[in-house]
Amino acid sequence: MAYHHDSAQKLLVKSESRYRRLFEAAQDGILLLNAATGQIEDVNPYLIKMLGYSYTEVVDKKLWELGNIIDTDLSKKMFGELQANGYVRYEDMPLRTKFGNYIDVEFVSNSYDCDDVKVIQCNIRNISDRKRVEQKLHKEETRYKAVVSTALDGIVTINSAGRIIDWNQSAERIFGYSATEAIGRPVTLLIPRRFHDRHHSGLKRVLDGGEHHLNGKITEMTGRRKDTHEVPLEMSMAEWNDDSRIFFTGIIRDISDRKAIEREIEAKTLELTKANIELEQFAYVASHDLREPLRMVNGFLTLLERRNPELDIESKEFLAFAKDGAVRMDGLVLALLELSRVGRINCEFGQIDSAGAVAEAISNLQVQIQESDCNVEVVDSMPMVTGNHDELVRLFQNLVANAIKYRHPDRQPVIRINCDHCQDGWQFAVEDNGIGIAHEYFERIFWIFQRLHTREKYEGTGIGLAICKKIVEFHGGHIWVESDPDHGSKFRFTIPDAGATEPAELEMKGAEDDAAPSIQEATPIRPHHEGPQT
Ligand code: ADP
Repeated sequence: MAYHHDSAQKLLVKSESRYRRLFEAAQDGILLLNAATGQIEDVNPYLIKMLGYSYTEVVDKKLWELGNIIDTDLSKKMFGELQANGYVRYEDMPLRTKFGNYIDVEFVSNSYDCDDVKVIQCNIRNISDRKRVEQKLHKEETRYKAVVSTALDGIVTINSAGRIIDWNQSAERIFGYSATEAIGRPVTLLIPRRFHDRHHSGLKRVLDGGEHHLNGKITEMTGRRKDTHEVPLEMSMAEWNDDSRIFFTGIIRDISDRKAIEREIEAKTLELTKANIELEQFAYVASHDLREPLRMVNGFLTLLERRNPELDIESKEFLAFAKDGAVRMDGLVLALLELSRVGRINCEFGQIDSAGAVAEAISNLQVQIQESDCNVEVVDSMPMVTGNHDELVRLFQNLVANAIKYRHPDRQPVIRINCDHCQDGWQFAVEDNGIGIAHEYFERIFWIFQRLHTREKYEGTGIGLAICKKIVEFHGGHIWVESDPDHGSKFRFTIPDAGATEPAELEMKGAEDDAAPSIQEATPIRPHHEGPQT
């Protein structure tokens, strides 16, 4: 019997020491109260550490005597509840530590009998960190909600079943459904019927782990409004997970206005292209047909001169002026014809040796080069480019001819032609040491008939650079000038690499008789109905 008593005693001691260890090692605060007196009988080290007081500062005190830790009214109320119900629970109770700061605790207590004494065990958990995280989360959620609800774009979230679970004000504005009408409904509500199959198969593919065609990309699509009207949309979509559930959030923008503007621009561009083609045809036909009567005027003036050798000097001078005017007009018409021919006649593109085009242009200008004692330097490494040989010859020839024409009277003309790689192809430069151009004319000189000098000073039509511009643009490049007046000019132009450009498609009309001789070599043609007889 004594043996049994001993072993029971041992077991008790063992169990007691186990519980004490638990009490002492617990990572929650534990406080034992006498239920009758409210006196604190024991506190564990964790609670002591949490509150910052010593064991003796807490133990043996009545609960409401810890006014510096817990509000006295609250502790009295709590004690009353405990005595009445044997249980209290506070989810969020502030305790004051010895260091003066507050910690939020979760407070649960139970009362039980121990050796006929009613004991209350209070478990106290510090939830300050949890509260801080919760507050942060709440703040973030509030901020997120504020952003979502005031966003200019529609923000719609669907779950893996394709049902709408989140809907903001802009989505309401775009689609016409209120949040209550939209949330819970399938997203196909917002998609025109003809795209439903595509939507279902896309969603299934993604959920089966397949490729996501929309994720992270901006895609244009068509939406369906509550009033059944379709609306052009731009959407960027993001997939996200929450507890292994998949959601898709789309940021949706109504692009009706942009689309309308695009359509307007397209229509205007088409109109403009048509008008341009018509204008070019008009310029071509007009300049081509103008040459015929001009040739006639000149021819008959010559006949008149020949038939009247006895004319007085003044009349002869008048006739010479008239002929000169006709010749000049023919020059202008020819230049116009040349301008309107760019991109129309023999405009096939190929691989062109730019060195060859430059050599041909220089050879065509041999007479002028020699007469002006001009020194033309061409860099060695001229590239192969994609373009039209004849047009490039004409381009270099116009630029070099101008460089000779506008040479400085006080120095030997030097012209340098070189080329460098540029972002999308080649950049050429024709540089001279001539009279230069004032900055304010840098753009104007490329316009048709824009001349900076009188005919008496420099002969010309004002069309040469307009032709250069048209040729360069026909090749997909651009042309500009840099100049230092009185020191020289540098005309630069680019020719993009193959593939970067395609020759513009221009209709060929009235291009059959390009080989018309210039007026000086023409013989007069008698009109069918009237005019002097030869
Ligand atoms: P044109 O030479 O027949 O007048 P262009 O269209 O070729 O017509 O040139 C327009 C104007 O640009 C010229 O009248 C001239 O004033 C100026 N210009 C062109 N090239 C040069 C150059 N290399 N140096 C100085 N001025 C130039």
